[in-house]
Amino acid sequence: MKKKVYFKTFGCRTNLYDSQVMMSALNEFDITEYEEEADVVVINSCTVTNGADSHVRSYISQVESSSGAKIFLTGCGAHTKGEKLLEQGRVSGVFGQSEKLKIDELLSKEEPFYELGDLNYIDESVVDDFVGKSRAFIKIQEGCNFRCSYCIIPYVRGDARSMSEDKILEQIARLARNGFGEFILTGTNVGSYGQKTDSSIAALMKKISLIRGVRRIRLGSVEPIQISDEFKEILDEPWLERHLHIALQHTSPQMLKYMNRRNVYKQDRELFELLAGKGFAIGTDFITGHPGESKELWDEAMKNVRDLPLTHLHAFTYSKRDNTPSATMKPEVNGKLAKERLHELEAIVYEKNFAFRKAFRDSLDVLIESQKDDYFVGYDQHFNKILIESDEDLVGNWVNIQKYEVKEECNYARF
Ligand code: SF4
Repeated sequence: MKKKVYFKTFGCRTNLYDSQVMMSALNEFDITEYEEEADVVVINSCTVTNGADSHVRSYISQVESSSGAKIFLTGCGAHTKGEKLLEQGRVSGVFGQSEKLKIDELLSKEEPFYELGDLNYIDESVVDDFVGKSRAFIKIQEGCNFRCSYCIIPYVRGDARSMSEDKILEQIARLARNGFGEFILTGTNVGSYGQKTDSSIAALMKKISLIRGVRRIRLGSVEPIQISDEFKEILDEPWLERHLHIALQHTSPQMLKYMNRRNVYKQDRELFELLAGKGFAIGTDFITGHPGESKELWDEAMKNVRDLPLTHLHAFTYSKRDNTPSATMKPEVNGKLAKERLHELEAIVYEKNFAFRKAFRDSLDVLIESQKDDYFVGYDQHFNKILIESDEDLVGNWVNIQKYEVKEECNYARF
Protein backbone atom coordinates (compact mmCIF):
# COMPACT_ATOMS: atom_id res chain seq x y z
CA MET A 1 0.00 0.00 0.00
CA LYS A 2 1.59 3.29 -1.15
CA LYS A 3 2.00 6.01 1.46
CA LYS A 4 -0.17 9.13 1.06
CA VAL A 5 1.34 12.60 0.51
CA TYR A 6 -0.40 15.94 1.17
CA PHE A 7 1.05 19.09 -0.44
CA LYS A 8 0.65 22.35 1.51
CA THR A 9 1.49 25.37 -0.63
CA PHE A 10 2.16 28.83 0.78
CA GLY A 11 2.93 32.07 -1.06
CA CYS A 12 2.88 32.98 -4.73
CA ARG A 13 1.68 31.49 -7.97
CA THR A 14 5.19 30.27 -8.75
CA ASN A 15 4.90 28.04 -5.69
CA LEU A 16 1.53 26.79 -6.98
CA TYR A 17 3.24 25.79 -10.21
CA ASP A 18 6.15 24.14 -8.38
CA SER A 19 3.71 22.13 -6.23
CA GLN A 20 1.91 20.95 -9.36
CA VAL A 21 5.27 19.83 -10.81
CA MET A 22 6.03 17.83 -7.65
CA MET A 23 2.57 16.24 -7.73
CA SER A 24 3.04 15.29 -11.39
CA ALA A 25 6.49 13.78 -10.69
CA LEU A 26 5.30 11.59 -7.81
CA ASN A 27 5.11 7.82 -8.57
CA GLU A 28 6.11 5.90 -5.45
CA PHE A 29 3.45 7.65 -3.34
CA ASP A 30 -0.24 8.55 -3.68
CA ILE A 31 -1.44 12.17 -3.48
CA THR A 32 -4.21 12.96 -1.02
CA GLU A 33 -6.20 16.19 -0.86
CA TYR A 34 -7.18 15.29 2.74
CA GLU A 35 -4.52 16.40 5.21
CA GLU A 36 -5.77 14.15 8.00
CA GLU A 37 -5.07 10.94 6.03
CA ALA A 38 -1.52 11.94 5.00
CA ASP A 39 1.53 9.84 6.01
CA VAL A 40 3.78 12.54 4.58
CA VAL A 41 3.30 16.33 4.31
CA VAL A 42 5.35 18.40 1.86
CA ILE A 43 5.36 22.10 2.75
CA ASN A 44 6.11 24.38 -0.20
CA SER A 45 6.97 27.42 1.86
CA CYS A 46 7.15 31.20 1.45
CA THR A 47 9.52 33.55 3.28
CA VAL A 48 8.63 36.94 1.79
CA THR A 49 7.64 38.36 5.21
CA ASN A 50 8.03 37.49 8.90
CA GLY A 51 4.33 36.65 8.72
CA ALA A 52 5.00 34.09 6.01
CA ASP A 53 7.66 32.42 8.17
CA SER A 54 5.39 32.26 11.21
CA HIS A 55 2.53 30.80 9.13
CA VAL A 56 4.85 27.97 8.09
CA ARG A 57 6.01 27.41 11.68
CA SER A 58 2.47 27.32 13.07
CA TYR A 59 1.42 24.94 10.30
CA ILE A 60 4.27 22.58 11.27
CA SER A 61 3.03 22.71 14.89
CA GLN A 62 -0.46 21.88 13.67
CA VAL A 63 0.73 18.80 11.76
CA GLU A 64 2.94 17.73 14.70
CA SER A 65 -0.04 17.89 17.11
CA SER A 66 -2.63 16.37 14.75
CA SER A 67 -1.47 13.57 12.42
CA GLY A 68 2.21 13.36 13.32
CA ALA A 69 2.87 12.82 9.61
CA LYS A 70 6.50 13.03 8.38
CA ILE A 71 7.19 16.65 7.26
CA PHE A 72 9.44 17.77 4.40
CA LEU A 73 10.18 21.44 3.68
CA THR A 74 10.82 23.05 0.29
CA GLY A 75 10.17 26.43 -1.35
CA CYS A 76 11.79 29.78 -0.44
CA GLY A 77 11.62 29.10 3.30
CA ALA A 78 13.98 26.15 2.80
CA HIS A 79 16.75 28.70 2.17
CA THR A 80 16.03 30.91 5.20
CA LYS A 81 14.52 28.64 7.88
CA GLY A 82 15.26 25.09 6.69
CA GLU A 83 18.54 24.49 8.51
CA LYS A 84 17.15 25.53 11.89
CA LEU A 85 13.94 23.49 11.52
CA LEU A 86 16.03 20.42 10.56
CA GLU A 87 18.37 20.92 13.55
CA GLN A 88 15.29 21.16 15.81
CA GLY A 89 14.07 17.87 14.32
CA ARG A 90 10.78 19.50 13.28
CA VAL A 91 11.20 18.41 9.64
CA SER A 92 12.65 15.16 8.21
CA GLY A 93 14.22 16.80 5.17
CA VAL A 94 14.80 20.13 3.45
CA PHE A 95 15.21 20.55 -0.30
CA GLY A 96 15.50 23.47 -2.74
CA GLN A 97 13.24 24.08 -5.73
CA SER A 98 15.84 22.66 -8.14
CA GLU A 99 15.55 19.22 -6.47
CA LYS A 100 11.78 18.86 -6.81
CA LEU A 101 11.84 16.32 -9.68
CA LYS A 102 13.67 13.91 -7.28
CA ILE A 103 10.56 13.94 -5.04
CA ASP A 104 10.15 10.12 -4.89
CA GLU A 105 13.78 9.60 -3.84
CA LEU A 106 13.70 12.49 -1.32
CA LEU A 107 10.48 11.42 0.41
CA SER A 108 11.79 7.82 0.66
CA LYS A 109 14.94 8.81 2.56
CA GLU A 110 15.13 7.44 6.11
CA GLU A 111 17.90 9.80 7.26
CA PRO A 112 17.34 13.58 7.69
CA PHE A 113 18.76 15.57 4.73
CA TYR A 114 19.47 19.15 3.67
CA GLU A 115 19.76 19.54 -0.13
CA LEU A 116 19.23 23.10 -1.38
CA GLY A 117 20.61 22.30 -4.85
CA ASP A 118 21.24 24.99 -7.47
CA LEU A 119 19.64 28.39 -6.82
CA ASN A 120 19.97 29.32 -10.50
CA TYR A 121 18.65 26.13 -12.11
CA ILE A 122 16.35 26.38 -15.16
CA ASP A 123 13.07 24.50 -14.68
CA GLU A 124 12.41 22.14 -17.63
CA SER A 125 9.34 20.41 -16.22
CA VAL A 126 6.00 20.15 -18.06
CA VAL A 127 2.72 19.18 -16.38
CA ASP A 128 -0.53 17.69 -17.78
CA ASP A 129 -2.96 19.04 -15.26
CA PHE A 130 -3.63 21.53 -12.50
CA VAL A 131 -5.29 19.61 -9.68
CA GLY A 132 -8.48 21.34 -8.51
CA LYS A 133 -8.04 24.35 -10.79
CA SER A 134 -9.90 25.58 -13.87
CA ARG A 135 -7.10 27.86 -14.92
CA ALA A 136 -3.40 27.11 -15.22
CA PHE A 137 -0.41 28.90 -13.70
CA ILE A 138 2.57 28.74 -16.03
CA LYS A 139 6.02 29.52 -14.66
CA ILE A 140 7.90 31.30 -17.44
CA GLN A 141 10.62 32.94 -15.41
CA GLU A 142 12.39 32.65 -12.09
CA GLY A 143 14.65 34.82 -9.95
CA CYS A 144 15.18 38.57 -9.92
CA ASN A 145 18.03 41.00 -10.70
CA PHE A 146 16.38 43.95 -9.01
CA ARG A 147 17.67 44.78 -5.53
CA CYS A 148 14.78 46.44 -3.72
CA SER A 149 16.21 47.28 -0.32
CA TYR A 150 13.48 45.46 1.71
CA CYS A 151 13.33 42.25 -0.33
CA ILE A 152 14.81 38.83 0.36
CA ILE A 153 13.51 37.13 -2.80
CA PRO A 154 16.61 37.50 -5.02
CA TYR A 155 18.57 35.65 -2.29
CA VAL A 156 16.13 32.69 -2.18
CA ARG A 157 15.06 32.53 -5.84
CA GLY A 158 18.37 33.44 -7.49
CA ASP A 159 19.16 35.59 -10.53
CA ALA A 160 16.54 36.30 -13.21
CA ARG A 161 16.36 33.55 -15.82
CA SER A 162 13.76 32.51 -18.35
CA MET A 163 12.30 29.06 -18.95
CA SER A 164 12.82 27.70 -22.46
CA GLU A 165 10.25 29.11 -24.87
CA ASP A 166 9.68 25.69 -26.47
CA LYS A 167 8.92 24.16 -23.07
CA ILE A 168 6.49 26.95 -22.20
CA LEU A 169 4.63 26.61 -25.52
CA GLU A 170 4.60 22.79 -25.20
CA GLN A 171 3.32 23.17 -21.63
CA ILE A 172 0.44 25.41 -22.65
CA ALA A 173 -0.46 23.32 -25.72
CA ARG A 174 -0.64 20.22 -23.51
CA LEU A 175 -2.87 21.91 -20.90
CA ALA A 176 -5.05 23.47 -23.64
CA ARG A 177 -5.58 19.98 -25.12
CA ASN A 178 -6.68 18.93 -21.60
CA GLY A 179 -9.34 21.62 -21.53
CA PHE A 180 -7.63 24.66 -19.98
CA GLY A 181 -8.43 27.98 -21.68
CA GLU A 182 -7.01 30.55 -19.26
CA PHE A 183 -3.31 30.79 -18.54
CA ILE A 184 -1.60 32.93 -15.90
CA LEU A 185 2.04 33.62 -16.73
CA THR A 186 3.95 33.70 -13.49
CA GLY A 187 7.46 34.00 -12.13
CA THR A 188 9.49 35.98 -9.62
CA ASN A 189 9.95 39.00 -11.91
CA VAL A 190 7.78 38.06 -14.88
CA GLY A 191 8.54 41.17 -16.91
CA SER A 192 12.21 40.23 -17.12
CA TYR A 193 11.29 37.18 -19.21
CA GLY A 194 13.41 36.90 -22.34
CA GLN A 195 16.19 39.31 -21.27
CA LYS A 196 19.00 36.83 -21.92
CA THR A 197 17.18 34.80 -24.59
CA ASP A 198 16.57 37.64 -27.03
CA SER A 199 12.82 37.44 -26.50
CA SER A 200 10.29 39.37 -24.41
CA ILE A 201 7.06 38.90 -22.48
CA ALA A 202 5.10 40.53 -25.33
CA ALA A 203 6.66 38.29 -28.00
CA LEU A 204 5.96 35.20 -25.89
CA MET A 205 2.33 36.17 -25.29
CA LYS A 206 1.75 36.65 -29.03
CA LYS A 207 3.04 33.08 -29.64
CA ILE A 208 0.92 31.67 -26.81
CA SER A 209 -2.20 33.36 -28.24
CA LEU A 210 -1.79 31.28 -31.43
CA ILE A 211 -2.10 27.97 -29.54
CA ARG A 212 -5.44 26.21 -30.16
CA GLY A 213 -7.68 26.44 -27.09
CA VAL A 214 -6.02 29.51 -25.51
CA ARG A 215 -8.85 31.89 -24.70
CA ARG A 216 -7.39 34.34 -22.13
CA ILE A 217 -3.88 35.14 -20.99
CA ARG A 218 -3.31 36.74 -17.61
CA LEU A 219 -0.03 38.09 -16.36
CA GLY A 220 1.49 37.97 -12.88
CA SER A 221 2.96 41.12 -11.38
CA VAL A 222 5.13 43.20 -13.73
CA GLU A 223 7.36 46.19 -13.01
CA PRO A 224 6.32 49.58 -14.46
CA ILE A 225 9.61 49.94 -16.35
CA GLN A 226 8.94 46.61 -18.08
CA ILE A 227 5.83 47.86 -19.92
CA SER A 228 7.76 48.52 -23.14
CA ASP A 229 6.53 49.98 -26.42
CA GLU A 230 6.42 46.42 -27.76
CA PHE A 231 4.15 45.48 -24.82
CA LYS A 232 1.92 48.51 -25.48
CA GLU A 233 1.28 47.13 -28.98
CA ILE A 234 -0.57 44.09 -27.57
CA LEU A 235 -2.83 46.06 -25.21
CA ASP A 236 -5.83 45.81 -27.56
CA GLU A 237 -5.49 42.09 -28.23
CA PRO A 238 -8.72 40.18 -27.43
CA TRP A 239 -6.83 37.34 -25.71
CA LEU A 240 -5.19 39.70 -23.17
CA GLU A 241 -7.08 40.13 -19.89
CA ARG A 242 -8.36 43.69 -19.34
CA HIS A 243 -6.49 43.88 -16.07
CA LEU A 244 -2.78 44.33 -15.33
CA HIS A 245 -0.94 44.09 -12.00
CA ILE A 246 1.92 46.58 -12.00
CA ALA A 247 4.05 46.69 -8.87
CA LEU A 248 4.65 50.24 -7.57
CA GLN A 249 5.35 49.36 -3.91
CA HIS A 250 4.99 53.05 -3.02
CA THR A 251 3.84 56.37 -4.55
CA SER A 252 6.11 58.80 -2.70
CA PRO A 253 9.16 59.63 -4.88
CA GLN A 254 11.37 59.82 -1.77
CA MET A 255 10.15 56.47 -0.44
CA LEU A 256 10.83 54.84 -3.82
CA LYS A 257 14.44 56.03 -3.44
CA TYR A 258 14.72 54.63 0.12
CA MET A 259 13.33 51.31 -1.19
CA ASN A 260 15.83 51.29 -4.08
CA ARG A 261 12.95 50.89 -6.51
CA ARG A 262 13.53 51.45 -10.24
CA ASN A 263 10.12 53.03 -10.90
CA VAL A 264 9.49 56.80 -10.82
CA TYR A 265 6.07 58.08 -9.69
CA LYS A 266 5.60 60.63 -12.52
CA GLN A 267 6.14 57.94 -15.18
CA ASP A 268 4.02 55.44 -13.22
CA ARG A 269 1.11 57.87 -13.31
CA GLU A 270 1.46 58.45 -17.06
CA LEU A 271 1.50 54.68 -17.66
CA PHE A 272 -1.54 54.05 -15.44
CA GLU A 273 -3.49 56.81 -17.18
CA LEU A 274 -2.64 55.33 -20.59
CA LEU A 275 -3.85 51.87 -19.47
CA ALA A 276 -7.01 53.23 -17.81
CA GLY A 277 -7.71 55.14 -21.02
CA LYS A 278 -7.83 51.75 -22.76
CA GLY A 279 -10.29 50.40 -20.18
CA PHE A 280 -7.84 48.35 -18.11
CA ALA A 281 -8.44 47.55 -14.47
CA ILE A 282 -5.10 48.10 -12.71
CA GLY A 283 -3.73 46.46 -9.60
CA THR A 284 -0.56 47.17 -7.69
CA ASP A 285 1.66 46.04 -4.80
CA PHE A 286 2.31 48.45 -1.93
CA ILE A 287 4.32 48.30 1.29
CA THR A 288 3.31 50.58 4.17
CA GLY A 289 5.53 51.43 7.12
CA HIS A 290 8.93 51.04 5.43
CA PRO A 291 11.63 52.86 7.45
CA GLY A 292 11.74 56.58 6.60
CA GLU A 293 7.98 56.79 5.89
CA SER A 294 7.28 60.04 7.72
CA LYS A 295 3.78 61.52 8.01
CA GLU A 296 4.65 64.04 5.27
CA LEU A 297 5.80 61.33 2.85
CA TRP A 298 2.74 59.22 3.70
CA ASP A 299 0.34 62.09 3.08
CA GLU A 300 2.07 62.81 -0.22
CA ALA A 301 1.81 59.13 -1.16
CA MET A 302 -1.92 58.98 -0.39
CA LYS A 303 -2.56 62.14 -2.43
CA ASN A 304 -0.76 60.40 -5.33
CA VAL A 305 -2.73 57.16 -4.82
CA ARG A 306 -5.99 59.12 -5.02
CA ASP A 307 -4.79 60.50 -8.39
CA LEU A 308 -4.11 57.02 -9.79
CA PRO A 309 -6.75 54.92 -11.67
CA LEU A 310 -6.22 51.92 -9.38
CA THR A 311 -8.78 49.12 -8.97
CA HIS A 312 -6.93 46.26 -7.23
CA LEU A 313 -4.41 46.17 -4.41
CA HIS A 314 -1.97 43.65 -2.93
CA ALA A 315 -0.51 45.45 0.09
CA PHE A 316 1.52 44.53 3.13
CA THR A 317 2.95 46.28 6.13
CA TYR A 318 6.74 46.41 5.99
CA SER A 319 8.39 43.26 7.35
CA LYS A 320 12.04 43.46 8.39
CA ARG A 321 14.03 40.74 6.63
CA ASP A 322 17.49 39.94 8.02
CA ASN A 323 20.42 40.72 5.71
CA THR A 324 18.45 43.23 3.61
CA PRO A 325 19.56 46.90 3.45
CA SER A 326 16.22 48.09 4.87
CA ALA A 327 16.75 46.01 8.01
CA THR A 328 19.19 48.60 9.37
CA MET A 329 17.39 51.70 8.06
CA LYS A 330 16.03 54.40 10.45
CA PRO A 331 13.68 55.84 11.55
CA GLU A 332 11.46 52.78 11.79
CA VAL A 333 7.65 53.07 11.67
CA ASN A 334 5.79 51.30 14.46
CA GLY A 335 3.66 48.33 13.50
CA LYS A 336 0.35 49.83 14.66
CA LEU A 337 0.81 52.95 12.51
CA ALA A 338 1.89 50.82 9.53
CA LYS A 339 -1.34 48.81 9.92
CA GLU A 340 -3.45 51.98 10.12
CA ARG A 341 -1.83 53.23 6.93
CA LEU A 342 -2.50 49.86 5.26
CA HIS A 343 -6.22 50.15 6.13
CA GLU A 344 -6.34 53.75 4.88
CA LEU A 345 -4.86 52.65 1.56
CA GLU A 346 -7.14 49.60 1.26
CA ALA A 347 -10.22 51.80 1.81
CA ILE A 348 -9.19 54.13 -1.01
CA VAL A 349 -8.67 51.32 -3.54
CA TYR A 350 -11.83 49.49 -2.39
CA GLU A 351 -13.84 52.61 -3.33
CA LYS A 352 -12.03 52.90 -6.64
CA ASN A 353 -12.84 49.27 -7.52
CA PHE A 354 -16.53 49.81 -6.74
CA ALA A 355 -16.56 52.99 -8.88
CA PHE A 356 -14.85 51.12 -11.75
CA ARG A 357 -17.44 48.32 -11.73
CA LYS A 358 -20.32 50.81 -11.54
CA ALA A 359 -18.93 52.74 -14.51
CA PHE A 360 -18.38 49.62 -16.67
CA ARG A 361 -21.73 48.64 -18.22
CA ASP A 362 -20.63 46.12 -20.92
CA SER A 363 -20.91 42.30 -20.63
CA LEU A 364 -18.57 40.27 -18.46
CA ASP A 365 -16.56 37.33 -19.78
CA VAL A 366 -16.30 35.02 -16.77
CA LEU A 367 -14.46 31.77 -16.08
CA ILE A 368 -16.18 29.92 -13.22
CA GLU A 369 -13.61 28.51 -10.82
CA SER A 370 -15.50 27.07 -7.88
CA GLN A 371 -18.77 26.78 -5.99
CA LYS A 372 -19.22 28.32 -2.52
CA ASP A 373 -22.49 27.89 -0.68
CA ASP A 374 -25.29 28.96 -3.07
CA TYR A 375 -23.01 30.69 -5.52
CA PHE A 376 -20.62 29.85 -8.34
CA VAL A 377 -17.45 31.98 -8.05
CA GLY A 378 -15.71 33.36 -11.11
CA TYR A 379 -13.49 36.20 -12.32
CA ASP A 380 -14.24 38.46 -15.26
CA GLN A 381 -11.90 40.06 -17.81
CA HIS A 382 -11.05 42.80 -15.27
CA PHE A 383 -10.12 40.19 -12.64
CA ASN A 384 -13.16 41.21 -10.60
CA LYS A 385 -14.93 38.48 -8.69
CA ILE A 386 -18.58 37.71 -9.50
CA LEU A 387 -20.98 35.44 -7.59
CA ILE A 388 -23.48 33.65 -9.81
CA GLU A 389 -26.64 31.76 -8.90
CA SER A 390 -27.54 28.91 -11.28
CA ASP A 391 -29.29 25.54 -11.34
CA GLU A 392 -26.58 24.18 -13.65
CA ASP A 393 -23.09 23.12 -12.44
CA LEU A 394 -20.97 25.92 -13.94
CA VAL A 395 -17.54 25.04 -12.48
CA GLY A 396 -14.89 25.18 -15.23
CA ASN A 397 -17.30 26.90 -17.66
CA TRP A 398 -16.94 30.19 -19.47
CA VAL A 399 -20.08 32.31 -19.25
CA ASN A 400 -20.87 35.69 -20.79
CA ILE A 401 -22.90 37.77 -18.34
CA GLN A 402 -25.04 40.59 -19.75
CA LYS A 403 -27.23 41.42 -16.73
CA TYR A 404 -25.63 41.69 -13.28
CA GLU A 405 -25.93 43.66 -10.07
CA VAL A 406 -23.00 45.79 -8.90
CA LYS A 407 -22.67 45.78 -5.13
CA GLU A 408 -19.88 47.23 -3.00
CA GLU A 409 -18.17 43.90 -2.26
CA CYS A 410 -18.55 42.35 -5.75
CA ASN A 411 -20.92 41.75 -8.67
CA TYR A 412 -23.85 39.30 -8.58
CA ALA A 413 -25.76 37.57 -11.36
CA ARG A 414 -28.18 34.76 -12.13
CA PHE A 415 -27.40 32.40 -15.03
S1 SF4 B 1 11.44 43.28 -8.01
FE1 SF4 B 1 12.08 43.92 -5.97
S2 SF4 B 1 10.36 43.28 -4.70
FE2 SF4 B 1 10.18 42.14 -6.59
S3 SF4 B 1 11.24 40.17 -6.23
FE3 SF4 B 1 12.69 41.61 -7.17
S4 SF4 B 1 13.78 42.55 -5.47
FE4 SF4 B 1 11.90 41.64 -4.65
